[in-house]
Amino acid sequence: MLIEEKQTEFILLETNCPYCSSFNKNNLVKTKDYEMDYNVEFTVSVCIDCGFIYTSIRPEEEVLYKVFYPDNYLCYGVKHKKGLACFIDKVRMGKQAKERASLIKKYFQKKNIKILEVGSATGEFLQFVKNNYGWESEGIEPNEQLAIQCKQEGLNIINSTLENASIKDDYYDVICLFNVLEHLWDPKAALIKLNKSLKKDGIIIAELPNPNSPMRTLFGKHWFLYHLPRHLSHFSEKSLANIMQKTGFYHLKTFKMFRPTVNALSFQYKIKDNIKSKIIKNILNTNNPLIILLSLIVEIINNLFYDSNIVLSVFKKEKTPSIKENTHLITKRIS
Ligand SMILES: [Zn+2]
Repeated sequence: MLIEEKQTEFILLETNCPYCSSFNKNNLVKTKDYEMDYNVEFTVSVCIDCGFIYTSIRPEEEVLYKVFYPDNYLCYGVKHKKGLACFIDKVRMGKQAKERASLIKKYFQKKNIKILEVGSATGEFLQFVKNNYGWESEGIEPNEQLAIQCKQEGLNIINSTLENASIKDDYYDVICLFNVLEHLWDPKAALIKLNKSLKKDGIIIAELPNPNSPMRTLFGKHWFLYHLPRHLSHFSEKSLANIMQKTGFYHLKTFKMFRPTVNALSFQYKIKDNIKSKIIKNILNTNNPLIILLSLIVEIINNLFYDSNIVLSVFKKEKTPSIKENTHLITKRIS
């Protein structure tokens, strides 16, 4: 639930392009965090030299991870949450785990698959593949509470950021990044690290927002998937293919994902800014059947005829990356 606007005094940083290090950029959108509602705007820019879209004005790294990822962060899974929208999401997540596992099975003949999920959150997917297929499942989760909870449920979880996690080289068949890559401070270094830990012919499965979706234009600064300041990189199909190729992967396939909740949350952000009455705001929340129905219809039409809000791409390890881990991200304090 949204709370009243909070005043804060964050130090904001301006960064260069995390992909090519250029400082030449055009601003795309300025918007705030509609979830935690601090009265601060962040900026998304397009690099003039390479076209990469990134969050150019953002909090400091430490503040970002401490303040903007509380234990009740809405993307940490819906296992213990309530309401109609969460019920629909729970049903979808059960189906989704099955679909993700079936996709992985298409790429491997063998039975014992070693899988690593970065950002395993409440662990639904790892639990599913462990229980149903007996795959050797491991997760990396920076949130302590979620990591403890998953360990208690019998999962093998490293409670750490990917950057600090100690993972084996040449070990995994599959690495999953479901809605994770866009959150990373240094995605290039992360992909190089993951490339090393994958076996020859291993695959990476990445699910992430698609800035090419017309929903971004339709909702503008209220598009849920800007998700500032947590989303630091906004990969288009082309820029994702480029960064994956540079870090030693080649593209196998991309699928459109069906995620009506993205539209429901975008509607809610629009309502929050444009409707003054608290009563109407409370009625038109993401659990309102009318909002859910409208979000479903919009998602069906969008996925049938246009680019989806979220895509899932599969990449295969090709070689050891040729570039160095240092991306030369230069930050300067602007407030
Ligand atoms: Zn660039």
